[in-house]
Amino acid sequence: MLTGKTALITGGSRGIGKAIALKFASQGSQIAIVYAGNESAASQTVAECEKFGVRANAYKCDVSDFSAVKETVAQVKADMGRIDILVNSAGITRDKLIAMMSETDFDSVVSVNLKGTFNMIKHCSPIFIRQRGGRIINISSVSGIMGNAGQTNYSASKAGIIGLTKATARELAPRGITCNAIAPGFIKTDMTEELGDNQEILAAIPLKRMGQPEEVAELAAFLAGDGASYITGEVVRIDGGMAM
Ligand code: NAD
Repeated sequence: MLTGKTALITGGSRGIGKAIALKFASQGSQIAIVYAGNESAASQTVAECEKFGVRANAYKCDVSDFSAVKETVAQVKADMGRIDILVNSAGITRDKLIAMMSETDFDSVVSVNLKGTFNMIKHCSPIFIRQRGGRIINISSVSGIMGNAGQTNYSASKAGIIGLTKATARELAPRGITCNAIAPGFIKTDMTEELGDNQEILAAIPLKRMGQPEEVAELAAFLAGDGASYITGEVVRIDGGMAM
């Protein structure tokens, strides 16, 4: 249970971030979601979290914007009183072969996925240090472990998140703060909608199906809870066996 905790979840308006917000709310955590632009989706997540009897707020913020993240984190702390758990789920893809990939395609994906994760850790960690504890959960990807053709930008950003996770885990461990990464395979969300039930992809997954956002949320709740207090710097794959 996460009763009495406050979780800040980026990308919480939909997909994996939304499933994590709902799971944490069901376990009694206050919820602050950060979203890029879709206000009605964010309000919908907030309303669904509130049904569990917890406080929930949504904050519009581009995670790649260092000073906007600073202001948002300060606002969440002012509104909610504390932040105990940070989940970095905000992410984008701009898939193209290298020959077609522009500088902007590369920079935007790295800025949102990797720098955005750093920005949130940078501004939440002083709060965790003062509170003498905190949990950081970064959503990486099996693309960052295996590499994926057509995703040099995305794979680089997700591999970068793994390095960032391990360095953060080492640096903040003496302060009682843990930092772990989740590496999902193919999960059914808006991000993967166009793939449908692609037979080539299913053939590469030993469990022969895509995952559900709720399955990733179960893992995030474990990493945020008391049962994971001695786990840090870990990268947990949740991919139906694809990257083993
Ligand atoms: P999604 O597209 O459904 O949701 C992405 C979320 O990120 C949205 O809430 C959006 O508002 C937010 N976001 C995007 N850019 C942002 C920005 N600049 N600032 C703030 N918020 C921003 O995607 P999803 O499938 O739920 O993916 C969530 C995370 O999981 C991503 O980091 C993604 O890379 C990762 N992931 C997804 C899969 C998959 O198969 N769906 C697999 C591996 C990893």
